Formats: sequence, structure tokens, C-alpha cells
Amino acid sequence: MHLDSRVAIVTGAASGIGAAIARAFVREGALVGVADLDLVAAEKVVAEMRSGGGQAVAVQMDVTDEQQVSRGVDAVVTAFGGIDILVSNAGFQHLDTIADVSFENWKRILAVHLDGGFLTTRVCLRHMYRQGRGGAIILMGSVHSKEASVSKGPYVVAKHGLLGLCRTVAKEGAAHGVRANLICPGFVRTPLVEKQIPELAARMGISEEQLISDVILRATVDGEFTTDTDIAEVAVFLAAFSSTALTGQSINVSHGWSMG
Ligand code: NAD
Repeated sequence: MHLDSRVAIVTGAASGIGAAIARAFVREGALVGVADLDLVAAEKVVAEMRSGGGQAVAVQMDVTDEQQVSRGVDAVVTAFGGIDILVSNAGFQHLDTIADVSFENWKRILAVHLDGGFLTTRVCLRHMYRQGRGGAIILMGSVHSKEASVSKGPYVVAKHGLLGLCRTVAKEGAAHGVRANLICPGFVRTPLVEKQIPELAARMGISEEQLISDVILRATVDGEFTTDTDIAEVAVFLAAFSSTALTGQSINVSHGWSMG
């Protein structure tokens, strides 16, 4: 197994991509903290993993709250004896143009993605530095870490910011054997995207089918959605990589939607 006895915490792991990553980590032998705003949903994911023989704990955490982040990571460290891997994945989408978005919504999306990425990374780095056994920080970016789309301005800005966080942590973490990388998914049919499809179609005055073929998948090489399994496999690869040769990178997993 690629992650035998490594301890991981995955935020936003009660749903979609985060849940797929948590399941893949458990399959690979990791001990996993399933952190989410939604504790009931996180507990369901944990119960399912435990019924298959996996080791996991559910952690209630709002990634924008400094104390909850500290307490949540500490709970995983206490349960499993340390922390080796962070996947900072919690997020949401908000559709608005820059001209229309309220300051409140702008701050909300930056808080979850950027404050959340920073707070979870900082507390995990402190544990990793103290433990002295290296570690892997994986941040969930997006094709929107490198590209822009209309009506997604706050999300685009936040996801670009995570690229800067990743590169900085790669440089600072190297002396401690800590690697940092960013995964940049294309469209994955999670609840985040399912909610967006009718909203975007209505904004553009086209059908949902047209939106999918002419907008969402148009720039892919093969007209296919990326899957949560695709992202989970890349997360396992990044988490398990054995040297700092692979650090500070941003990896597109998008059927060619973005090649930059
Ligand atoms: P999702 O809605 O299925 O899951 C997101 C999870 O994050 C939910 O369980 C939610 O409760 C949790 N969450 C939200 N705010 C939180 C907070 N403040 N604290 C803790 N947990 C919180 O969405 P998803 O599609 O699986 O998205 C996961 C990540 O992947 C996000 O960062 C998203 O931006 C990114 N992403 C998704 C896609 C896609 O197409 N689905 C593409 C690129 C990037």
C-alpha cells in the first residue's frame, strides 16, 4: 500500500472530491481525519470506511475559524499520533461578475479557499516541523488557478492565490522535508458543479445540455468530465511521492481543459 500507516487530514471530506480522496487514502493504508463543516455527513463517510476495515475519524471544522482548525488537526494528531499529509480541499463556488458581486460574498469565498488553505497549512506545518519526519501538503486548486471564466471572479482570484501559497510552502518546507503541491481539476460532477449547471445555464440563456457541451466541456480534448476518482488517484500519487523532487507543482487533471 502506498500510504501505509501515514496520517492524513482531508478538509471538505464529507462530499465530492474530498470524500473520494479520503476513501482512496484509507484504501492505501492511511489513517484519515475526515474534516468538514458538516459533521453528520463526515461521520457517514467515516462509518463507511470503518465498515470496510479502514481507520478514520470525523472532525467538525470550519476551515475559516482559527480555533476550529487548530482543535480539529490536534484531534487527528491525538487519535493517530501525528500528521503526515494535509489535503486542503474544502471549498464552494459563488457565481457573480466582478461588477455585481457583493463585498460580503467576495470575502466569503476568499475566506474559505484562502484563509482555509492558509490556516490548515500553517497548523499542519507546525506539527510536521516539530515531528521532523517530513510531510506532504496538497492544496485543491482548479483549472481556475491558471485560467479565468466570466462570473467566477472571486473563485478565480482565490484559486490563483493557492498557487502562490503552494509555491511558498514548497520553498519554506524543503528544509524540513515537507513538499507542497496543487491539484488543478477540471469539471467534476460533484454537488458543487451540479448546483452550478442550472444557475449558469439560466445566466447564459441556454439549456443545461448546451451548457455542458458548448461551455463546460468545450475546451477538453475529448468532451469528458473529470471524475473524483481521477483526482483521488493524483492525490495518492502526490502524497506518496518519496522525495522533494516533486514540490511546488500545480498539476492539471482536466481532460486537457487547461494545459498551462
Ligand atoms: P462539494 O460541494 O462536493 O464538497 C465540498 C465540501 O466542502 C462539502 O462537504 C462542504 O461541507 C465542505 N466545506 C465547505 N465550506 C467549508 C468550510 N468553511 N469548512 C469546512 N468544510 C467546508 O465540492 P467539490 O466539488 O468536491 O469541491 C472540493 C474542492 O475541489 C473545492 O475546493 C473546489 O473548489 C475544488 N474543485 C472542484 C471542481 C469541480 O468541478 N467539482 C473543480 C475544480 C476544483
